[in-house]
Order: sequence, then structure tokens, then C-alpha cells
Amino acid sequence: MTRLHLPVVTVARPTGPVPRDPLLDSFARRIRYLRVSVTDRCNYRCSYCMPETLAKDPESGVQFQPKSALLTFEELEQIVGVFAGLGVRKVRLTGGEPTVRHGIVDLVRRMAAVPGIEQVVMTTNGHLLTDLAEPLRAAGLSAINVSLDTLDPTQFHSITGRGDLARVLAGIDAAVAAGLRVNTNAVALAGINDRELVSLCEDAWRRGVVPRFIEHMPMSDGALYDAERGISAAAIRRTVESELGPLVVAEGARPRDGGPARYWALASDPTRQLGIISAMTEHFCDDCNRLRLTATGDLHACLGHDDALSLRDILRGQGSQDDLVRAIGGAVSGKRAGHIFDDKAPTKHMIGIGG
Ligand code: SAM
Repeated sequence: MTRLHLPVVTVARPTGPVPRDPLLDSFARRIRYLRVSVTDRCNYRCSYCMPETLAKDPESGVQFQPKSALLTFEELEQIVGVFAGLGVRKVRLTGGEPTVRHGIVDLVRRMAAVPGIEQVVMTTNGHLLTDLAEPLRAAGLSAINVSLDTLDPTQFHSITGRGDLARVLAGIDAAVAAGLRVNTNAVALAGINDRELVSLCEDAWRRGVVPRFIEHMPMSDGALYDAERGISAAAIRRTVESELGPLVVAEGARPRDGGPARYWALASDPTRQLGIISAMTEHFCDDCNRLRLTATGDLHACLGHDDALSLRDILRGQGSQDDLVRAIGGAVSGKRAGHIFDDKAPTKHMIGIGG
């Protein structure tokens, strides 16, 4: 396996005056959305994300962080409070697997109570959702993305290493019943789920959820990436159209979740929508509105680049609120025009940054 390194925190901590508009980047993009990884642990071992080989290899694999390195709930509240004061309105909790972080329901409640935060949402593998859907909804969660790559139980177990399809499907139904808006996420891969794209859509629509497909991205220094297996957004649309008829851009689709997915609908039935996250072939960086915070407090301005800056170090080093704002403004002003996955993959792991 390719030797992997932990993401290097390369951005120097800014000094000087507090920026006037810290969340406006140099390409006139405004940040309103913070993705927060709450743990680097996961109860699944997905083949394209963190297979057992990557999780176990002591030298080159994922290096799980000790609990003391993770941001506490109080630190998360403080950081999210600063972001909200600057204009962030939406927080997505992810991981790792966010539902394995002890106290996740309490964390959702705390995030939802931060003044200025209008939406708290989550990305999960759904394994623990049957029990958690109701309490998460009651705590203030409004929407949830559940990873679902296949409807074949054997294939599901093989992709996830440990997963249980029936449990995840029950979790999705529990989330719908609890009143959460639900999307499913499938990483589209040739030889894995390319024959299931239409059935994944139809199953999702039957359950009252929106299916989404993600183009596979080369994270982890490209160690798990095979360009031959990637399925482009155009190919996904062609497959769906060949069986279900023409797709049209879904009405009012982009503001639906403020994320990177582009939404399409069957021309014959606009209520049947699907989303595609085309990170490889149809970039969406021009209107990027996001930053990412890892479980250890590293702020990443882009999924496709390794540069990051530790907000945890500022907090634990008795930094002031202005120090945090300066750091956030520095990360935002250094935000690149876009990601390029062509010649160089980031060394960071999807499991660490949270997808
Ligand atoms: N454990 C949660 C889950 O399964 O949804 C949240 C974290 S997971 C890293 C977030 C999303 O990233 C999942 O939908 C997963 O399928 C996707 N993902 C993981 N590795 C990926 C890759 N290399 N390219 C594209 N998507 C990836």
C-alpha cells in the first residue's frame, strides 16, 4: 500500500488586524455552511473509504486519535458559536461515523441551540439510526444523509466490511417516520453498484427519500482509488434516462440543501428527484459555501487540499475570540479557487475529514 501520512497542518496562524468580513473569500464566495467531523472512528469498514487494511496498518494507515485530542462538546459549541456569529447558518455533523460519538444526541441539541444556527444535519451510515432517529429529531436535527451503496445484502456486507443492510434500511424508514428529510448517498462504482443505479432510485422514492450518487474521489493519497471504476455524473444520468426517460434540472433544487449536489428530476414526474455530487467531472467549486472542521479541530478550507489550521490549538493555547476569527479569516482568504484531483490526491483520509 502507498505510504500514507497524516494531513499536515500547513497554514500559518495569522496575526494582525481582525478581518472585516472573515467568511467572504477572495473569489467572492460566502461561507454559510460548516461540516464538523465529530469522530474519526467508524463502525463500518467501507472498501473505498476505510477498509480494514487502512484501519489496521500501524505505519501507513489511518491513525486514530486519542479522546483527549478530540474537540470537547464545550469546544465545539465555542467554535460553532464563533462561526455562527460570522454568518454560518448550517452545521453538518459527520465523521468517521457521527452516531458512535458518545452523547451525539446531546451534541445535536447543543449545536441547534447555538444562536444563529438554523439547520443541524448529519451524514451517517445508518447502522444505529433505528434507535437514534427520534431522539435526534427531537434534539433539533432537521435532515440526514444515509450512505447506501447497494440493495443487495451480500454486496452491502462486502462493501461495508461489517454492515447490515436490513438494519440500515430500517434506520432510513425510522428517520422518515421521525420527520427528518432524508437523502441516501451511494458512491457510484463500476463492478460494484453500476447495475443498481435505477433500483437505488426507485427504492429511495418508495421510501420517501431522495437518492444521491457521489463520484468516487481519490483521497488517502490515492491509495484506494481506481479511475477505471469511477462512474461520471453524465454516465449516471445516461443510465437513469435509458430506463426512466429524460431528466430535467429539478425546480429550486440547489437551495434544497445548500450542499454540492446538483438535483435532477424525471421529466415525467418532477417529484422523483435525484442528486449527483460530481466532484470529479462537473466541478461545483464556483459557488462553494463550505468549510470543514475535523474532530481534532483542524479547519480545512477544501476537501481536495491538505492545508489546514488548528482551531483547537488556539482554543487550548488560551487564544482569544479575535484569535479564532483571525484564524478563520486566514483559512477563508486562503481558500483555493477549486479542487483538482487530477494529478495529486490529498493525503488526508475521507474518514478523518468527514466526506
Ligand atoms: N460514516 C458516515 C457515512 O457513512 O455516511 C459519514 C462519513 S462518510 C466519510 C461520508 C460520505 O463519504 C459517505 O457517503 C461515503 O460513502 C462517502 N465517501 C467515502 N469515501 C469516499 C470517496 N473516496 N469518494 C467519494 N465519497 C466517499
